[in-house]
Amino acid sequence: MNKFKWKNPLHICILLVLSFCIIFNFSTPKINYEVNKVNTKEKVIMITFDDGPSLADETILDILKENNAKATFFGTGINYEKYWKDEKVKAITDRMVNEGHTLGNHSYYHNKYQFKTKSAYDEFYKTSDMIVKIYAENNIPKTISDVPIRMPFLQYYRGMDYLQSKMQVEYFVRGYLGCDYDEAICGKEKILKQYKSNIRPGQILVCHTRDYAKEWLPDLLKHLNEKNYKTVNFTNGDQDYRNYGGLIF
Ligand SMILES: [Zn+2]
Repeated sequence: MNKFKWKNPLHICILLVLSFCIIFNFSTPKINYEVNKVNTKEKVIMITFDDGPSLADETILDILKENNAKATFFGTGINYEKYWKDEKVKAITDRMVNEGHTLGNHSYYHNKYQFKTKSAYDEFYKTSDMIVKIYAENNIPKTISDVPIRMPFLQYYRGMDYLQSKMQVEYFVRGYLGCDYDEAICGKEKILKQYKSNIRPGQILVCHTRDYAKEWLPDLLKHLNEKNYKTVNFTNGDQDYRNYGGLIF
């Protein structure tokens, strides 16, 4: 009789595959509620800056303007709150809105939110509510569900679907993360190399509001221009990502 032996490589393989499927099923969300690119074959790219708004955004805005580029700024609630307390932050944030960029929500405290369902919702709601008010100050009507959201640390955990449905957003926005947030270790050349080698139609680049952006951002935008890439964001108009089929996972 042919005795069943776990030493058989085929059986071990089957066991490994089954184990992987079980672990994968329990560790990942059931629906695709994160998007990683714009749904297009056209040469469009989405540039995003996390962690502002802050004074460093002024230089970023100047560089974007010089290169006729549009971006999305995923700011935190603690920083958006300065809009009502700090004239410079107010002026910079108003400039973002009036120069056709998009304001996004990057949480209030920039925490990790797994197992913190209630506080996550409170934080994200409070931040989107501030963003809607900032748009209103600039006579642009928006609702909470219009505000794009990016999770801090690009975290992705089971349970984010609750936050998604409560916030009434279609998705969370991911993208390609380089090392621009760690400029001391990464440096200009590596930052540029990472972003340039990841340019493709519909790509979303995750960048950060930092003074160091002035070192690499002009080169990146010139490179995009040479390659005939246009920048798109979430603001209605010609540059709107929706013209390119929306976002897909
Ligand atoms: Zn961040």
